Amino acid sequence: MEILSALFKPVLDFALPPRCPICGIMVDADNRFCLSCWEGLDFLTAPWCATCGRPFAYDHGSDAQCAPCMKKPPDHNGVRAVVAYDDKSSLLAMRLKYGGRLGFAELIAGHMARFLDEVGPDSVIIPVPLHRWRLWSRGFNQSVLIGRALSKRSGIAIETGLLSRKNATPPLRSMSAKQRNKIVKNAFVLSSEVDDRLVGKTVILVDDVYTTGSTANACARKLRAAGADRVLVFCWARVLTEYDRS
Ligand SMILES: [Zn+2]
Ligand SMILES: [Zn+2]
Repeated sequence: MEILSALFKPVLDFALPPRCPICGIMVDADNRFCLSCWEGLDFLTAPWCATCGRPFAYDHGSDAQCAPCMKKPPDHNGVRAVVAYDDKSSLLAMRLKYGGRLGFAELIAGHMARFLDEVGPDSVIIPVPLHRWRLWSRGFNQSVLIGRALSKRSGIAIETGLLSRKNATPPLRSMSAKQRNKIVKNAFVLSSEVDDRLVGKTVILVDDVYTTGSTANACARKLRAAGADRVLVFCWARVLTEYDRS
């Protein structure tokens, strides 16, 4: 029965009326939020930290840095997150991650498009890789789905074979920044095919959720070692504490 329902799912999805990807109520068109979810999402915009993109409650000038960046700047060149991570935005991330809904990836990529002004056409999109065991068990990488949708929409090339994850890391959700750093520090490797393909390029590193930055920093160090000029992180949701918004 389970196999049968899995087989017929795409057909059923097609036949069903469009629903809000967060709360599930009926909406006018596919992959649109209902008004209440739309208003409930915390869309992140400038003013933000010049180094990491952490939003500020007040404009401190275009060169202003947040306190964590003053203490230790990240290895990447900034995060462009569509929304703040909360109950609503995390639901969409979970549904993409465990349901593999391509429409959700397209919706996220559509919202990321507002950050494309900051990158040139010769940039390259690199999704944060999953370890192959996790890829086999899940069947897809949600960051690749978002990256492909962004590539299709922008015409910017996507590379999914240059960076890979050599260590299967345990779920990082409940770990501190320090623990995460230690675990992912050496988790990523570059393919020998990378050659000089990233030299001087801006890399758009695509992920679904940005938490402490450990993963993005570990990837950015590898990409910059391969000659990338800039690594900008594009994600759906960024975890922000109260402190960040003050
Ligand atoms: Zn809704
Ligand atoms: Zn910052």
